[in-house]
Amino acid sequence: CAVFGVFAPGQDVARITGFGLQALQHRGQESAGIAVGDGASMVEAKDLGLVTQVFDEAKLAALEGFVAVGHCRYSTSGAAASWEAAQPHISAIDNVLVALAHNGTLVNTEALRAQLDAEGVVLRAGTDSEVAAKAIGHITQDTHHLRQGIRWLMEHMEGAYAMVLASPDALYAFRDPNGIRPLCIGGLPGGGWVVSSETCGLDIVGATYLRDVEPGEIVRFNRDGLTAEQGVPAARRASCIFEYVYFARPDSVLDGQSVYQARRAMGRILAREAPARADLVLGVPDSGVPAALGFAEASGIPFTDGIVKNRYVGRTFIQPTQEMRQMGIRLKLNPLPSVIGGKRLVVIDDSIVRGNTSRQLVAMLREAGAAEVHLRIVSPEVLWPCFYGIDTDTRDQLIAANMTLPQMNEWIGSDSLAFISLEGLRASLPDVCHPGFCEACFTGDYVVPVPLP
Ligand code: 5GP
Ligand code: SF4
Ligand code: MG
Repeated sequence: CAVFGVFAPGQDVARITGFGLQALQHRGQESAGIAVGDGASMVEAKDLGLVTQVFDEAKLAALEGFVAVGHCRYSTSGAAASWEAAQPHISAIDNVLVALAHNGTLVNTEALRAQLDAEGVVLRAGTDSEVAAKAIGHITQDTHHLRQGIRWLMEHMEGAYAMVLASPDALYAFRDPNGIRPLCIGGLPGGGWVVSSETCGLDIVGATYLRDVEPGEIVRFNRDGLTAEQGVPAARRASCIFEYVYFARPDSVLDGQSVYQARRAMGRILAREAPARADLVLGVPDSGVPAALGFAEASGIPFTDGIVKNRYVGRTFIQPTQEMRQMGIRLKLNPLPSVIGGKRLVVIDDSIVRGNTSRQLVAMLREAGAAEVHLRIVSPEVLWPCFYGIDTDTRDQLIAANMTLPQMNEWIGSDSLAFISLEGLRASLPDVCHPGFCEACFTGDYVVPVPLP
C-alpha cells in the first residue's frame, strides 16, 4: 500500500495528497482515499479504483482543511477488494474524529480484535488496519491524548506498519520498531510538511526530503512545529529488501539508496554471477528494465527493447485472484518479432513468485521467433511467504519452494535460468544508511514471529 500525509496551513492539502497518491499509485491499485481535517472536524472521500478514478477536481475541492492523510490499497490478504477495507479508516474519540492510513501487515490483531469486540466496538472491514484504527479511538477515549494512544498501540501491534494519522489539527507518522516498510518526511516550499511512503511522493509536490521516520518513532506535525519521540525502542533493523527489487518506484531513494541505481547494479552483478551466451539483453517492463541495462553494461551484450508494455494495465501481481493474474499478463506484455526474431535472448525480470509471468512470457517470446531464451532474475528464489505487506502467497504457491532449479527451468520453458545470490543482491545496495534488511521471503528468517503453517 501507499500512505501519504500533509500538514500545511494555507495550502490545498487535499490536492497535495491527491498528487502524492498518484506518484505512489504503483504501491496499490484497489482503492484510494483522502481524509482532511480543518481544526474542528474531519471529512473523507474514498472508493474502489485508481486515484484518478476516485478523485476529480470537484471532490478534491470539497475536502477543505489544513491536515490530510491519504492511502492507496493493495490487499495482502488475497481477499477481493471491498469498500469497507478502503482507507483511511475514520475512528471517533468521543466526538473527535481521527483518520488512519497503514502500509504493512500486522501479524497479531486477533487479541486486539477480540478485546474491541468484547467492548462493543463495531468492526466492518475485517482487516488488521481497521483494528488498529478503531483501537486508537477506543484507547484514547478517556485521555484524548493521541500520542499516548499511539504509543499504546505500538506496544501492542506486531508486524509491519508505516502509518500516518490525522486528527482535526495535527498529523502523526509512526513506524514499526524494525522499520520494515519505508516512510519519509519532506518540507513543503510554502511551509508545512508531507510524509510519504517513498521519496517520489515528495518530488511530485515539490517537497524537499528531510529525513525518514525512524523505526519505533512517532513524529507529530502541528502549529507548534515538528515534535519527535520514540514510541517504542528500535529493534533489529529489517527494512524490506524487496522494495529495491520490485515494489518501490525506480526514481525513489530509500534509506539513502537510489532504487534505480540498485536495480542497475543488480543486473551488473547477475551478469557476473550467471553469464549467458546471447545476442540481445531485454528487460521485462517495467521493473526488469534498469537491471537489463546493468546486465548489458557488464556483459557487453547489447540492450534492446523487445517487449512492449501496455501502460494502461496495472501491476498484474496486484490483481487478487490467479485467473485475473493470468489474464493480466497477456493483456500487459507483447513482444516485438521484428527485434527478437531468430535471436538468442537474455531476459531479465525482477522476481519469480508463482512463475506465471515467466512461463507465459517465455512462450510468447518463442512464438515471436526468439531462438533461445535465457532467463535471469535479480532476486534470489522466493522460498517463503511474506507476512509484512507484500502478497507472495503460501509456500505451496511459490514455485521455487516446490521445484529444483532444473525443474523450474523446464516448467517455465527457458533455455537456462538463474537467480542472483543473496550476497549479490546485498552488494547492489552500497548506499543504504542502516544496518539490516528483512530478507525473510528468501531465507525464512522472520524478524517478527509469524503464524507459519
Ligand atoms: P509470478 O508470475 O512469478 O507469480 O510473479 C512475478 C511477477 O510479478 C514479477 O514479474 C514481478 O514484476 C511481479 N511481482 C513479483 N513479486 C511481487 C510482489 O511481491 N508483489 C507484487 N505486487 N508484484 C510482484
Ligand atoms: Fe520484504 Fe520479503 Fe521481508 Fe516481505 S518477507 S518484508 S517482501 S523482504
Ligand atoms: Mg514484472
